[in-house]
Amino acid sequence: MSLDSVLATRIRQSGPMSVADFMADCLLHPRWGYYVTRDPLGAAGDFTTAPEISQMFGELIGLCLAQTWMDQGRPASFTLAELGPGRGTLMADLLRATSIVPGFLDAAGIALVEASPVLRAAQKRALAGHDVRWLDRADALPDDRPLFVVANEFFDALPIRQFLRDGGGWRERLIGLRDGALCFGLGARAAQPALGHRLDDTQEGDLVEICAAAGPVADALARRIAARGGAALIVDYGDWRSLGDTLQAMRGHRHADILADPGAADLTAHVDFETLATAARAAGAAHSRLTTQGVFLERLGIAARAQALAARLSGPARDEPASAHRRLTHGDEMGNLFKVLGVFPPHAAPPPGLDA
Ligand code: SAH
Repeated sequence: MSLDSVLATRIRQSGPMSVADFMADCLLHPRWGYYVTRDPLGAAGDFTTAPEISQMFGELIGLCLAQTWMDQGRPASFTLAELGPGRGTLMADLLRATSIVPGFLDAAGIALVEASPVLRAAQKRALAGHDVRWLDRADALPDDRPLFVVANEFFDALPIRQFLRDGGGWRERLIGLRDGALCFGLGARAAQPALGHRLDDTQEGDLVEICAAAGPVADALARRIAARGGAALIVDYGDWRSLGDTLQAMRGHRHADILADPGAADLTAHVDFETLATAARAAGAAHSRLTTQGVFLERLGIAARAQALAARLSGPARDEPASAHRRLTHGDEMGNLFKVLGVFPPHAAPPPGLDA
């Protein structure tokens, strides 16, 4: 048995499946899901993320959250959370950097929202010595205290549906079978009330994506932040409004065929930040302007941090901070593709590095 045959059987029984259902099984099927069966990060894995490139990323995120905590009057007890913490590297760097901020870690209860058992084990190793709670979902986060939370490359892993504009309606991109093999196709034309706002900015033949899971997660964070205080830093690739097919499979640091070997490649889609911002506003929170990762990290002082790190190194290692600085911020690398959205209480200042 393989995930491929499980999906083929299901399609034979119930008909073609949505891209979202396919993505959900490929990533988190209890037996064959990509995140259930492996640690995908790092040189030996399938992709690398900002915290795995450099300690500077988690340090600056941590100091940004700690400054926001100070700006909000240093609440005596708050939740310090991360969604999809990968190997726990960002949180470990964040905790080390913020240990110099008096009172911050004493007031923090650490909570990690993580679906993967393999990555939970890696997080446990990375955060040994810290008191950490693991949760399955964002809506299980405590709602009786402020919430300071970061999500890096979490929302891009949430399942999306894809729709092609056709005539007055939309046809959903579906996954079916041809000669026994998985293949893409299109469902029947139908009205999609959830896509009413996209009739103005799309044309015949355009493809748009909807991530049904994203809004409720943003709502869960924003509701707590609006009611109790705190802030969310959401970092991911994507833009204000999705247009076009952004579904991709990554395997061994290369683009792979999406349907070729379900469960063996990472599947992601660009994040539609408008969906997150709309949910945050509806929950009563404020949000920042969407800011590129490059600008955000420069404003937080990554250049000075890279110089300080280099000054302590010698030999070829001395060049590493500058090269990581470039990878994280340069427009040709991650600097423009990745964006940051801050969520914060109404009437509070946005987190450092972001504009209201
Ligand atoms: N933030 C980390 C890892 C990014 S990979 C980094 O920057 O290195 C995506 C992370 O989200 C992984 O930890 C994965 O297991 C987790 N994840 C994906 N879908 C999830 C879901 N539905 N619920 C909880 N965690 C999820």
